[in-house]
Amino acid sequence: MEYIRLEDVWKTYRTKNVTATPLRGLNMNVDKGELVVVLGPSGEGKTTLLRIIAGLLRQDKGHVYLRGELVDDMPPKDRRVAMVFQSYAIYPFMNVYDNIAFPLRLAHRPKDEIDREVRRVAEMLRISDILQKKPSELSGGQKQRVAIAKALVKGADILLMDEPMANLDAQVRVFAREELKQLHRQLGTTIVYVTHDQVEALSLATKLAVLHDGVIQDFGDPMEVYRRPKNAWVASFVGNPPMNLFDGVVSGNYIVAKKGKLRVPVPEEYRKLVKEGQEVIFGFRPEDIRVGEGELSGTVSMVERVGAYTVIHLDMGDGQLLRVVYPSLSTVNRGDRVSFSVPAEAVSLYDPSTGNNLEQR
Ligand code: ADP
Ligand code: MG
Repeated sequence: MEYIRLEDVWKTYRTKNVTATPLRGLNMNVDKGELVVVLGPSGEGKTTLLRIIAGLLRQDKGHVYLRGELVDDMPPKDRRVAMVFQSYAIYPFMNVYDNIAFPLRLAHRPKDEIDREVRRVAEMLRISDILQKKPSELSGGQKQRVAIAKALVKGADILLMDEPMANLDAQVRVFAREELKQLHRQLGTTIVYVTHDQVEALSLATKLAVLHDGVIQDFGDPMEVYRRPKNAWVASFVGNPPMNLFDGVVSGNYIVAKKGKLRVPVPEEYRKLVKEGQEVIFGFRPEDIRVGEGELSGTVSMVERVGAYTVIHLDMGDGQLLRVVYPSLSTVNRGDRVSFSVPAEAVSLYDPSTGNNLEQR
């Protein structure tokens, strides 16, 4: 069931010196119970989008529907939407109980109702045993639960999360992500989570939405978006390292790069979609390249050891650089010659004029 619907949403900010139009006819549908991650670069309108859903900001044009109902004129307090902000906005001087009770006290609810509500969400989020603790005594995962409890205490069933893990350190973040996934499965709450972090997006999302140029560029199962990006921009953005993309021309069963010495086979599913001499953008993921075998070769121009793997750049001539994910234990140095091949099934093709994937899913 469609729970959140954004229809042709536009938003422009005008200040004395600058105008910015982060949202330009954005459409998005979120089904009940999904954890949709909106992934996009900083400054592209992610926070704006959440504020519009929450009703904290009014769109210039277009409509917002929640639970099937048009809510353009509905004030935030009636939308049953809660927002979880960066670093969770938990008050350090209040214990967990008071933190969760705070929104209800602000709303002047009776004391016994407040107590009942706090204990209900605490139970739901399995934090009943830490209600007397101070935030400084909590683990990262517990803080997240408290922030969500605080958000849900007023009866919201839509949760908006604005880069909540941005200030957590890397190790804590891994656990916080796992926790959030479990919580989501357990609570079934509809969540829209925005981030610019690739790993967060791919690991959390039940549906991934990619925001750029004010519209959702791609939407779907995260692995689908990863394997078959809808357009070349999405291909160039999703994944770390992202896809290799080059301008090429179809020549027989191959696509030959316009510059440098790269050529790759035309994948089966694209055979009928291209013709001899057609210009295309072709792409393939750095981890799909088979190194140490094949007729292609390049010169190593950069070695970046990430840990679990190594990213190398191969110079293919004419200034064309190829990103390759390389096994972390192998020795490789700048200046080495590396041979490789690109399997046909790894290749995707895009129309150079529209940027769209030639094969639309
Ligand atoms: P994100 O959350 O993706 O980083 P934002 O939604 O915060 O992006 O901002 C999108 C764009 O709108 C940015 O260019 C930002 O500078 C501009 N912007 C956001 N809020 C305001 C505001 N209150 N006044 C003017 N410009 C704003
Ligand atoms: Mg933001």
